[in-house]
Amino acid sequence: MSVPSTADIVIVGGGVIGASTAYHLALRGAGTIVLLERQPYFGSESTGKCAGGVRAHFDTEINCRMSQISLAAFERFEAETGYTADYRKIGYLFVLTREADVEAFRRQMDMHLRLGIRTDWLDGDEVRRRLPMMSFDDALGGLFGPDDGLADNGSVVQGYISAGSRLGVKALNGVEVTGVRLAGGRVAGVETDQGPIAAPVVVDAAGAWSGLVGRLAGLDVPVQPVRRQLFTTTPTPEIPSGWTFVIDFKTNLYFHREGPGLLSGMSRADEPPAFNQTVDEDWELAHLEAGAARLPLLERAGITRRWAGLYEVTPDHHAIIGRSADVPGFYINAGFSGHGFMQSPAAGLLMAEEILDGRASTLDVSTLRPERFREGALLDEYVVF
Ligand SMILES: Cc1cc2nc3c(=O)[nH]c(=O)nc-3n(C[C@H](O)[C@H](O)[C@H](O)COP(=O)(O)OP(=O)(O)OC[C@H]3O[C@@H](n4cnc5c(N)ncnc54)[C@H](O)[C@@H]3O)c2cc1C
Repeated sequence: MSVPSTADIVIVGGGVIGASTAYHLALRGAGTIVLLERQPYFGSESTGKCAGGVRAHFDTEINCRMSQISLAAFERFEAETGYTADYRKIGYLFVLTREADVEAFRRQMDMHLRLGIRTDWLDGDEVRRRLPMMSFDDALGGLFGPDDGLADNGSVVQGYISAGSRLGVKALNGVEVTGVRLAGGRVAGVETDQGPIAAPVVVDAAGAWSGLVGRLAGLDVPVQPVRRQLFTTTPTPEIPSGWTFVIDFKTNLYFHREGPGLLSGMSRADEPPAFNQTVDEDWELAHLEAGAARLPLLERAGITRRWAGLYEVTPDHHAIIGRSADVPGFYINAGFSGHGFMQSPAAGLLMAEEILDGRASTLDVSTLRPERFREGALLDEYVVF
């Protein structure tokens, strides 16, 4: 399909953030919306490689509220889009083995309860009772969020693409944005490998590549690509199907049920930023050893799939949502730092409000403005892994 010559809004990047943004703009009747994805399929980069975890439990109120809006949207997703989000409330259990983490998580609980986020505190014995197949002799406590869980990343991105298309979004894959046109210092459109599109508004929703897209407009969008990798295992019948999402917070190791087996990840704290999506076999070995130490049955399980993808990391592990103060017409919806899938409904809704109303009203996202980095107004999120 050829690209149209004009649009009211061009969105760069057809992952879950771009797809949600397009859908929410179309819902508001925002004119001609063109969504451009350079890969042959929507959602095939970070969105397609994610672990599917969704949670409301964070350390900052803005992250908690973004997730609350999003979890509620996942509940009504099928009625809204015709696709199931397959939101399963299996709960997240953060297992804490350091005093400092216990203190930090207990502090967060007051905020969670104030915001109406269901939260249970577990002592070490209760953690061990709930996870009899795991070795957590050193658990000091745990935070359990019963409404956290899993959702289907593939179905959510398709739901937004399909529902958006029904509302008139021109969602085009196989189109790469190669330039951002400026006229008189403001956005005038984009260049693509299939011709230019004139448009007064461009949204950078290019995930781990959003820094590169920002640069096309002469902007510094501080989003770094950081590799993360996962594997799935052969059937593990000892693990019940509704098993909770377990996070060994100290080591960034996590597990959840995936089909008849398990999915596991372990984020490497010193992974250097790079567009590298090859599986690091040394790290996989370290991951397997750490995994088996916590969940001994892993020693008997085989690996069925392994893959790596990119987190899109900002200096303060919070998204960037808002307009550029330097280039009018350029908007950024990126940098979700490993929690973009779970916050995608809110991200699209709030970006649509920013563009159409001048500022988001469902939630004040001014703390996520692009300029916070140079202003030194960084946020701080403790619960990232
Ligand atoms: C291993 C792993 C596990 C994760 N687990 C979770 C989890 O459990 N829960 C959760 O919420 N999040 C998780 N995440 C993070 C989540 O996947 C991301 O936050 C989210 O998918 C970001 O969505 P996005 O649309 O911004 O990025 P993407 O899905 O990467 O989409 C951006 C798109 O932009 C396109 N693009 C880039 N440049 C251009 C260009 N010039 N022209 C056209 N198109 C372009 C890319 O091809 C890409 O498809 C995980 C990520 C990884 C890698």
